[in-house]
Order: sequence, then structure tokens, then C-alpha cells
Amino acid sequence: MTTRRQFMMSVPAAAAAFALAENFVLDASPARAQQIDPLQGHFHPSGKAPSKFTLEVLKTAKATLPFADKRDFEEQKKGLIAPMKDLKIMADAGHIAWDMERFQFLDTREDFDSIHPSLLRQSVLNNNYGLYEVIPGIYQVRGFDLSDITFIRGKTGWIVFDPLVTAEPVRAAWKLFQEHVGQGLPVSAIVYSHTHADHWGGVRAIVDEADVRSDKVAVIAPIDFMDFTISENVYAGNAMNRRLFYQYGLLLPASPHGYVGQGLGQGVSAGAMGLIAPNRYVKEAIEEIEVDGVPMVFQYTPNTEAPREMNTYIPDMKALWMAENVIASLHNIYTLRGAPVRDPLNWSKYIGEALYRFGLEAEVMFASHHWPRWGNERIQEVLRGQRDLYANMNNQVLHLANQGVTISQIHNVYEVPKGLQDKWFCRGYHGSPQHNARGVVQRYLGFWDCNPTTLIPLSPADSAPLYVELMGGPEKILARGRELHDEGKYLLATEIVNKLVQAEPDNEAAKDLLADIFEQIGYQQENPGLRNSFLAAAYELRSGIPQGETADSSSPDVIRAMSTELFLNFLGIRMDSRKAEDMRFTINLITPDNGEKFIIELENATLTNIKGFVAPKPDLTLTINRSDLEQTMMGVKTLEAQIADGTAKVEGDAGILKQLASTMVDFDPRFEIMPGTKAKTEVTGYVESGIKGKADPYEAIPRQTIAE
Ligand SMILES: [Zn+2]
Repeated sequence: MTTRRQFMMSVPAAAAAFALAENFVLDASPARAQQIDPLQGHFHPSGKAPSKFTLEVLKTAKATLPFADKRDFEEQKKGLIAPMKDLKIMADAGHIAWDMERFQFLDTREDFDSIHPSLLRQSVLNNNYGLYEVIPGIYQVRGFDLSDITFIRGKTGWIVFDPLVTAEPVRAAWKLFQEHVGQGLPVSAIVYSHTHADHWGGVRAIVDEADVRSDKVAVIAPIDFMDFTISENVYAGNAMNRRLFYQYGLLLPASPHGYVGQGLGQGVSAGAMGLIAPNRYVKEAIEEIEVDGVPMVFQYTPNTEAPREMNTYIPDMKALWMAENVIASLHNIYTLRGAPVRDPLNWSKYIGEALYRFGLEAEVMFASHHWPRWGNERIQEVLRGQRDLYANMNNQVLHLANQGVTISQIHNVYEVPKGLQDKWFCRGYHGSPQHNARGVVQRYLGFWDCNPTTLIPLSPADSAPLYVELMGGPEKILARGRELHDEGKYLLATEIVNKLVQAEPDNEAAKDLLADIFEQIGYQQENPGLRNSFLAAAYELRSGIPQGETADSSSPDVIRAMSTELFLNFLGIRMDSRKAEDMRFTINLITPDNGEKFIIELENATLTNIKGFVAPKPDLTLTINRSDLEQTMMGVKTLEAQIADGTAKVEGDAGILKQLASTMVDFDPRFEIMPGTKAKTEVTGYVESGIKGKADPYEAIPRQTIAE
């Protein structure tokens, strides 16, 4: 058996971090006596075992959840044609694009004392990895990415639904499919069910863009698809990317004490993302389209799981595709990475409509995540359950809000009805009832609970010192925090220990204690987003935010899909207004190849643009083709270089562009969330990204496109 020290020393960078913590513990008096030993086998040298309180929470869940209902396991494995043998899929760039080996530990034991049994169950289900028959003529490759890819037999080839996040897993899926079922027939059409990146990003692996542009291959998507694929994630994109480290636990190794999957799927692939614009849009509430000889009924469902989404019914096969509107989980109303709050009532109504339009006769139902449902009775059960889940969340939360329950209380008051709690597909593996309930209040009433204390409060760092003073100083808080921790009163413990961390970002004992508290709360969560968020914060409190080069890996396709107006709007966000106090100018921007023109004005330290106008007396007129401007948007070629080689023409004061450039800030996705976590230590070796195989987890995060 290795000693604690041997274990520590086997992880050099981690050992340094531990030494730091240990030294502090030796000095800091009250916290030391009850210091819990780090756990052997934990990925982090300061990691702790689940407490008896945590074990009790997990035991109770095990005893009360409907484990006797094993239908998901039957459905998950039904129709397996061929398991995928390679556990790793390599990216063209040389790193690992997809790694299922990381999740094999989930199948080695019945229980883990640091994983909620319901979450473990979902993650074991998501370990399906291979080619499946849904019904003759419909096949899915599952477990190659966050989402599933579906192949439907058309007259001349295969109609592909939702080609994953990146090209390499799609290529591997297509290969496996062709080996067993595909008969060498080509891709004849593609359907993007909605705007999130895990439903289109791998498209370039299976279709040539020229065949789409010449209409040889139909690519069908809901109307305004291109606008919404990008716009949802640009303006707050850097903040969202940072928050993904919490929601998706990107720094946590896959392990019983770390990352155990994402509920929707095991993770997000890290290959090459691309986007081919659709050539056929669905815009009516119901549209019937014959796709490669197969009659399909598209139900347009805007503002549900995504801003633009559609379900599809195939009458001849009695097969109902519910996109991501119905999956084997409660979905997000509020998304922890940050997104406009979704409309659960609208969502519920579209499910209800699908039930009555298609669900009364459908014999199989399948979707872009998880596994299909067979038989009309089962389909109706799932559709009704999901319909009611979203409607109840909307109605009962507002019912309570109308009686004065606030956004600060609702998650402790609202409960999913017992009958729905007993249905596995209504449990919270993506959305949790708690954070969704707060989201509903946010949607209708906003952030304020109406107590003026919380209306314009001090920033946490400014109010915390007073609390620390009145609580009698750091030692007292640490002692009481440790007591609360030892009594299993973790949320109470966060109240006071967080105040100390806010007041004293360099207080290592406080950060270590808060990490220990967060870790127990994390272990207790059924919802992977909540688990990951607590464990990610614990990780950063213990190790700091890893430093390293970040690379902007924006896909050229994604940039191309961004409108010039969106790009200019984003420049207004990138501009530090404080640097522009004394500037004032007007620019006319003309992009002849697409016939667009803009007035861009900097005035009142604010950068605005208006499309379709030119100013009569601009300080500068800039003429550049949109196709050339994309080089600048991608950061490949500066505007200066475009002007120097004559690609861009300028008339007037070109110096203005330098002024403008001097106000721009490049956002860094490594900003601090928990106080005192910036670059605490250099961590390598045991850091494992949730999305890629290379050492620097910040490198390959697709900017401005988020899988969900
Ligand atoms: Zn998805």
C-alpha cells in the first residue's frame, strides 16, 4: 500500500500544491486539529472521502429512487448491431478527439460512494458506444460525442440527422455504419434539428459543401438557423466559456471523485468543427417535405430547448424524432454556463402538440441524445411525462411566486410532483429542479427578490470584511466552519467560510476548508452540472486556475456564419469604453461583394453601428469585400495589412482605425471566479480536460459555439 506521502510525490506538481496547503495547516491553529486526511486514490492530493453525511444522502437516494424500473437499460441496449471497438478517436490534429476509455471505470462497480446513484445510473446508460438499429431503416451511432447521429434510409442514400460536434467522430461513426449497414450508399440529405453545436459541427465529415450549394444534397434546418447558431453565444461568449469549466467540469479528471459524465452524454468531442449553411428551411408550424423519397412532417418548435428547433415525424415508419425537445432527462430552463432563460410553458405546449399530432400513432420515438422508446404506450408515457414536467415547473413555480416565494427561496420550496419524480426520464441530469425553478422566477420576475437589501448590495469583497470582523475574526470562522462541516451542515458552512474567502483571498486555510465543503456538496448531487460546479470550484480553490497559452480556435465556418452586424456589435463589447472617453469619429463601412453598408460611430465613449446607411461626411470610408473582412474577423490578417496590400480601400483619416484598435480588449477565459485562485500553482500531469486529450484544457474550446 502506498503511503500518503508516496502518493503525493508520485504527482510532482500536485505535491507542490499540497506542500503549500500542509505548511499552512501546520501554522493555522484551529483548523488543524480536525484536518481530514487526503484520500488515497483521489485525483487531487487534497481530495477528501465522502463524509458519513454524504454517504447517508446517497444511501437514502438509493433506497427511495425507482431502481426496479429497468426499462431504460432494455431500451438503451436494444438493437445493438456492432459495438465500437476503439475506445479512442483521434483528431486530425494529432490529439485525442474522443475518449471512452475514461468512462470504463463506471462499469466496474455497482456503487461508488462519491457518486449519486441516480447520476451513476445515467452515466452507465451513457456508456453505450456503437451502432444500433432503431427500426429497420433507422440507425443510430451512440456514444461518439455528446449527441447521437442518426441515419435514415432514403431512396438514393442515407438521410443524416444531427452530425455531432466535430468531424472526426462523425467520420468514425460513418465508417462503423458503412461496415455493417450502409451498403456503400452516399449521404443524400442532412437535417439539423436545432442550433446547438452538437447537432451540426461534424457535418463536413460526410458531405461536400459544393454538393449542398448545388442542391445535390439537401441540408434542412429551421428558419433563421444561421442567425441563431452563432448569436446565442457571441456577446457573452467568453464568460460562457469560462462558466463551462464549472458546468461541464472541464478541469476535472474522469474519476469517481471527479467528472462522471454530463448526463446528456459523456462529454463533448474535441475534433474539427465546421458548419455548412442549410439550403432548405422549415418555417411553417407544420411542413411536409419529401426528403430523398421519404415523406417527413416537420414540426417547427421555436423557443423551446433552442431558439430554433424542429421535431420530425415519418408517417410511413410511424417514427417520431423529438430532436432535443424530449430526452431521457429534465433539460435546462436555466443553463449554468449562462444563456437566456428558456420558456418551459411554450416547450411543454409543443410536446403536447407532438403528442396529439403524432404521438397517438407513433410506434418508435427517438432523439438526438440518449436512446429510443418503442411501443405506443411507452411513447405516450414519455411524451406526457415530459410535457407535464415543463408545464409543472412553469406553473407551480409561478404559483409559489405569486404567493411571495422569491428567487432566493424557490429552489428550497418547489418540488417536482411525486409521480414525475418516479419517472427516470423526468430526473435532472441536465437541468436540475433547483436551478430550473430559479430560472423560471428569473424569466418572469428577474434577479431581484424585492428585499431592498439585495437591490444594490455591496460587492461580496466589500461586505465580507464586516462579517469577518463581527464574527470574531478568521480563526473563529474557521473553527465554526469546520464544526459545521463536521456536522454535515455544508450549506450553512458555505455561508460563513465563503465570507472569509471573500474578505481574505489569500487565506489558504479558508480556501481549503471551503473546497472540502464544496466537495461534499458536489458528491451529493444527482445533477452533473451542480456536481461539476461544486467540484470545479473545489479544484480551483485547491490548485488555482491553470495557466497556459490560450488559442482562439474559432472555426472559419463559424466566423463565416457571423453577420457583419453581429461582428460590429461584438466590437462594441470588446471596446473598453473607459479608453474611448475623448474619441469621436464616424466610419462608413462598405462591403461590395454582399452589398452591405454600415455607419459606425464612436461617440460618448460608445461604439454603435447601423446597417443600411452611410453618413454624408464620414471621417473615414472603408471599402472591403466581406469575404476579405472575414480574414480580419478570424484574426488571420489585420485590417492594417488589408489596407497595405490594397485589399481594403480607405478614404479619409485611416489613423482612426489605430485609435479604434487601441480601445479593443482580447477576452481571456481564465478570469477568476473564486477569490484568490489566480495562478496559485502550475498544474500539469493530472489535469485532464473534459473535452480533449492535450495538456492545456483552454486550447480547444470552440469559441462562440456551445454544445448542449
Ligand atoms: Zn444537444
